[in-house]
Amino acid sequence: MDLKVGVIGTGAIGIEHIRRINEKVQGAFVTAVSDINIEQATKLANQINAVFFETGEELIASSNVDIVVVTSWDPTHEKYVLEAIKHGKYVFCEKPLATDSAGCKRIVDAEIAAGKKLVQVGFMRRYDRGYIELKRAIETRQFGEPLMLHCAHRNPTADENYLTPMAIINTGIHEIDALRWLLQEDYVSAQMILPKQTSFTHEKLHDPQVLILETTSGIHIDLEIFVNCQFGYDIKCDVVCETGEIGLEDPAYTHIKSKGKNYTEISPDWQTRFVEAYDYEFELWVRSIQTGKLAGPTAWDGYVAAVTMDACGKARESGEKVKIQLEDCPALYK
Ligand code: NAP
Repeated sequence: MDLKVGVIGTGAIGIEHIRRINEKVQGAFVTAVSDINIEQATKLANQINAVFFETGEELIASSNVDIVVVTSWDPTHEKYVLEAIKHGKYVFCEKPLATDSAGCKRIVDAEIAAGKKLVQVGFMRRYDRGYIELKRAIETRQFGEPLMLHCAHRNPTADENYLTPMAIINTGIHEIDALRWLLQEDYVSAQMILPKQTSFTHEKLHDPQVLILETTSGIHIDLEIFVNCQFGYDIKCDVVCETGEIGLEDPAYTHIKSKGKNYTEISPDWQTRFVEAYDYEFELWVRSIQTGKLAGPTAWDGYVAAVTMDACGKARESGEKVKIQLEDCPALYK
C-alpha cells in the first residue's frame, strides 16, 4: 500500500519535495501539510488534495500520516523529529538535523531508546551521480591513497538574512557530510580562514570563507565557501591521490558554440544542479521504508556533522585549529 506522507514546512524545498513525492516517487503520496505560514500551506493543501494541520505535532499524530518530512525552518527540526520518534514514525529531516550537536545528540538518544532507526537526514550529495562515482573510485584505491581534497561550494548570491555562521550551518554542512562519507573517515580537526572579502557581501556576512579539515588518517581537505560569487551555483571536489586525481565534472548535457566560443552553462541554483540527486534520495527513502531497511544518512551522521559544525564555529571565532572529538559510534548505527 502507498505510504501517506505528512510534510511540515511548505517553503522553497518543502514544495519541491511535495511535487517530487506526488509526481515522481513510486509508493508514496502527500496527505497532509503544516506550516506557520497558514495562507501558503492551506493554498497548497487545496491544490494537492491534502489536509492542512495548524501544528506539526497534530500532523505527526494523525492516522492519515504514515511517514513525516521536515522541511521547516532549521530551529524547528529537532522538536518535530523528536515528536515523530515518539510516535514511532519514520522521518526525513532536511539538514541540519538540529542547530547544534547537543540537539542532534538528543535525537540520537531518543532513537536509541526507541530501539530502531527512524530518522534520515537530507544529505542529498550522497545520491549525486558524480559523488557516487568518486566514492567508487576512491574505494578501489586504483590511484593509491587519497591525500588531499580541494573543494568549493559557490552560490551566485546570498541575501541580507544570510549571516556568517550560515556558511557552515547551511552551506558547508553538505560537504562536511559528503566528504566524510566519501572517505569513510571521521574528522580530527577544523580550522577556518577568513580571506579578503568580496565587495558583493554585506556587513553581517564574511564572504568568502575557507574551511580546513583533517581526517583520522591525515587527509587534508580545503573547502572554499563563497556565496556571492555572482556567476552561478558551482560545486567542486577534486581528490588528489598518490598516482592520480579524481574530480567532479560540472554536469551538463549540452554545450554551446557561438560567437567564437565553445562553452557549457553553469547551473543557476541548487535545485537545478542536484535535481536528480533529490529525486533518487526520495525514491530510495520510500523504498527503504517499504522494505524495512533504512539505508540513508542517519541521525548519527547528522550528529557528527553538527559536532564538526560546532568546531568550525569555535575555529572561526578563535582563529585556531580546533580538535574534533567524537564519542564511540553507538551499536544502532554501526
Ligand atoms: P523556506 O523557504 O524559508 O521554508 C521554510 C518554511 O518553514 C517557511 O514556510 C516557514 O514559514 C516555515 N516554518 C517556520 N517555522 C515553522 C514552524 N515552527 N512550523 C512549521 N513551519 C515553519 O526555507 P527552505 O529553503 O525551504 O528550507 C527549509 C529547510 O530545508 C531548511 O532547514 C534548509 O536548511 C533546508 N534546505 C536543504 C536543502 C538541501 O539541499 N538539502 C536546500 C534548501 C533548504 P515562514 O516563511 O512564515 O517563516
